[in-house]
Amino acid sequence: MPPACFGCNVQLIGGEELLCTTCRYELPLTEYNFSQENHVDRIFYGRVPIKKASSFLYFSSIGIVKNLLHQLKYKNQSHIGIFLGSWYGALLAEDGSLPEIDYVVPVPLHPKKLRKRGYNQVTGFGKQIATAINATFLEDVLTKTANTKTQTKKSRIERWQEQQSLFKAKKTNVLTGKKVLLVDDVITTGATIEVCARALLDAQVSEVYVATMAIVP
Ligand SMILES: [Zn+2]
Repeated sequence: MPPACFGCNVQLIGGEELLCTTCRYELPLTEYNFSQENHVDRIFYGRVPIKKASSFLYFSSIGIVKNLLHQLKYKNQSHIGIFLGSWYGALLAEDGSLPEIDYVVPVPLHPKKLRKRGYNQVTGFGKQIATAINATFLEDVLTKTANTKTQTKKSRIERWQEQQSLFKAKKTNVLTGKKVLLVDDVITTGATIEVCARALLDAQVSEVYVATMAIVP
């Protein structure tokens, strides 16, 4: 069986990789950069001092981006992260709006989930971006200390308090004074990024930047 497009499922033809030519052109790039204010920045205002945030794609509950991210996360297609990271990394390197970054750090999975899935879906994405912008990819400085469960019966305050201890920074001596680009898959409420950014700032990094594969508009 020749490979099928991850966006629309048609069979790919010679030279096409992961997406057919139509889906590739229809991919909803945000065209945000790291020099102008955008929707991703505004999520964090008044919450945590993230220097600048941006996302590569718009996420919607139907369509190409949803299919890609679903396959990446649940269907063992870790190469999709590499594909998105090399594309976005090339854009970032080209537009030059991102200041010089020391470390690219992925939002971690809980170790149990990592074992089950076999890979962190953000790793390939982060590694490609790190290579493109001449930064070092640091996989193991953030750890997730508890597995998140749906907590519908808990109040907002209770959930918030739990979130605060969910992610921890280790090897904090290497982080001191460094500029870090935190990477994740889809940003919705920004709660996970907020807690990770706070852990990095507690570890005395100088600035936190955020780049995600997609944002829910
Ligand atoms: Zn397609």
